[in-house]
Amino acid sequence: MSALADRLAETDARIADAIRDAGRDPSEITRIVVTKFHPVEMVRELVGLGVRDVGENRHQEAQAKAAELADVALRWHFVGQLQSKKARQVRRYAVAVHSLDRGSLVDALAEADAGGPVLDGFLQLNLTDDLGRGGVGPDDVEALAERILAAPGLRLRGVMAVAPLDEEPRRAFARVRAASERLRHLEPSATAISAGMSEDFREAVLEGATHLRIGTAITGKRPQSR
Ligand SMILES: *Cc1c(COP(=O)(O)O)cnc(C)c1O
Repeated sequence: MSALADRLAETDARIADAIRDAGRDPSEITRIVVTKFHPVEMVRELVGLGVRDVGENRHQEAQAKAAELADVALRWHFVGQLQSKKARQVRRYAVAVHSLDRGSLVDALAEADAGGPVLDGFLQLNLTDDLGRGGVGPDDVEALAERILAAPGLRLRGVMAVAPLDEEPRRAFARVRAASERLRHLEPSATAISAGMSEDFREAVLEGATHLRIGTAITGKRPQSR
């Protein structure tokens, strides 16, 4: 087995352990491999290992990889901060945007709806006090959710969050679960929780995450900036 295959298998085993310990059903959980900074050849190797959900956080890189892999039935998840002016292009390849963090972006994605497939959207929560981080605070969840629900061509799947570095992840994810419950009062079908990365996916699964965004634990260290 290649090192990549090893890491994928080991990570999936750890995910399975967490699911079992949480008493949850494996079919509730989607494991997205975040391949940012890694070459398209790695994505192809992952496809050979059965991976179908991949995540990217920069539009240009995602667009180029999706074009090169147009022959493969992959689901591209956009997980990074997104400029509204890129909305139209992102809709051409992404099945989901996990980083809906403001009304103007929601509107731009809706306007870019060209009658293609519905785009899945996750409302990004900011779990820190730093307004510069992506996402909305607890008080703004309902307003942004209403905007997404009103947007043609978008389906609100649920919430997304990144655990702060200075907080115990389980505590942070408990707040995400609470926000998810509030959102479900507004829209009962918006049950998804995109949370959990390489260092904290176990805690995320224990707090109800449905979409794990895992990079380095599977891909290995990212090549430095380029
Ligand atoms: C890079 C990234 C991930 C994956 O991070 P790892 O720590 O490598 O698992 C998950 N979510 C987002 C939003 C990211 O940018």
